[in-house]
Amino acid sequence: MTIELISIGTELLLGQIVDTNAAWLSARLAEIGVGVYRRTTVGDNRERIIAALREGLARADGIITIGGLGPTDDDLTREAIAAVLGEPLVLDEGEVARLKAFFALRGREANERQLRQAMRPASAQPIPNPNGTAPGLYAEWQGKPIIAMPGPPNEFQPMATDHVLPRLAERTGGRVIRSRVLRLCGIGESDAETQLQDLIQSENPTLAPLAKLGEVHFRITARADSPAEAEQMIAQTERAVRERLGAYIFGIDETTLEQAVVESLVEAGQSLAIAESCTGGLLGHRITSVPGSSEVFLGGVISYSNVLKESLLGVPREVLETHGAVSEPTARAMAEGTRLRLGSWWGVGITGIAGPGGGSPDKPVGLVYVGLSDPSGTVVRSQIFAGDRATVKYRATQYALWLLYKGVKQGGCDSLSRL
Ligand code: AMP
Ligand code: MG
Repeated sequence: MTIELISIGTELLLGQIVDTNAAWLSARLAEIGVGVYRRTTVGDNRERIIAALREGLARADGIITIGGLGPTDDDLTREAIAAVLGEPLVLDEGEVARLKAFFALRGREANERQLRQAMRPASAQPIPNPNGTAPGLYAEWQGKPIIAMPGPPNEFQPMATDHVLPRLAERTGGRVIRSRVLRLCGIGESDAETQLQDLIQSENPTLAPLAKLGEVHFRITARADSPAEAEQMIAQTERAVRERLGAYIFGIDETTLEQAVVESLVEAGQSLAIAESCTGGLLGHRITSVPGSSEVFLGGVISYSNVLKESLLGVPREVLETHGAVSEPTARAMAEGTRLRLGSWWGVGITGIAGPGGGSPDKPVGLVYVGLSDPSGTVVRSQIFAGDRATVKYRATQYALWLLYKGVKQGGCDSLSRL
């Protein structure tokens, strides 16, 4: 089945807002095997909306519109759909009652304008909107669905998830949809994709890659006749992915890398202290964003200057003078110094050049050293990250978290260094 999306709103054409709804919905449609071959953006103009609907209906098996369902004069989607269907707009009594109740609950009365939102083309059905005033619309033109949803993302996403996607999934075959996201770190998107090529081509379950900053996600989505069957299909694909790329998977669904790190430390019963230079506290921020991190995270030092690297962490002056603050020996001494002085099981040290200035031919902007120390020893790894200052800082913390995660999972620095 193919669907065309029509985003409606002059503010989209003026560049005042970005069409995040269409991007989000395209990804969800791909997961249930619905093809999106074309997306159109059209302003708040009745004739142009009608033209976009007619063109889309001529090409695709169905249309989804986003926006233009509100109470104001520039909300013209329902008029345009009625015109395409050749039907009058009628008042939906159920929606009138719902709107009145919605306003009564807030101590207000629904005015005439608000009640316009209860209008629908005669043959259309309203789609419930528990998060706002404008219901969606479901109509059919020559057997092809025309689905209209409101623009505000907090109304649009639940409506799509709860009503629209299940309905489309039904038309494409399976009755229930289940999905799971596998989160990977330490491998690039294209390398990961190359190793999963055959699975990515599968139509049910689907496997969809999504590159994030410093991570790659794969969403597995299965359509089946029962939840149990869908879960079983997901489990099978997950097993296949884990067989090939299990070493890079740190979590599923909403699990962040910092959560995975904290969980692994709690499980191992090991504590952590950190020393940050170029990341300026970002690593500490990410770790302390995890509820319960106090169980394992002792704290750290933001040793931005050489003076503090020396006085607080015991990085030898000769090391700083001979090798520089951004160097393998400095990262090593920072990791060991914070571990010994703060009394933790693990010590992490980060030093690097976040840019935009400060680079040199042998130490370019983006060069970051991460030291990781535990009672079994110390390892230092380096990377050169692309991107602006904020990106380099983030990637440096991501890299440190990943090293730490691997270190904890593999039982210590000595096993990590043999990788
Ligand atoms: P509308 O349903 O056209 O009245 O849109 C109401 C509000 O929803 C707009 O002011 C935007 O803030 C938001 N919105 C509308 N369309 C989109 C879209 N395609 N992507 C993201 N936000 C949107
Ligand atoms: Mg609008």
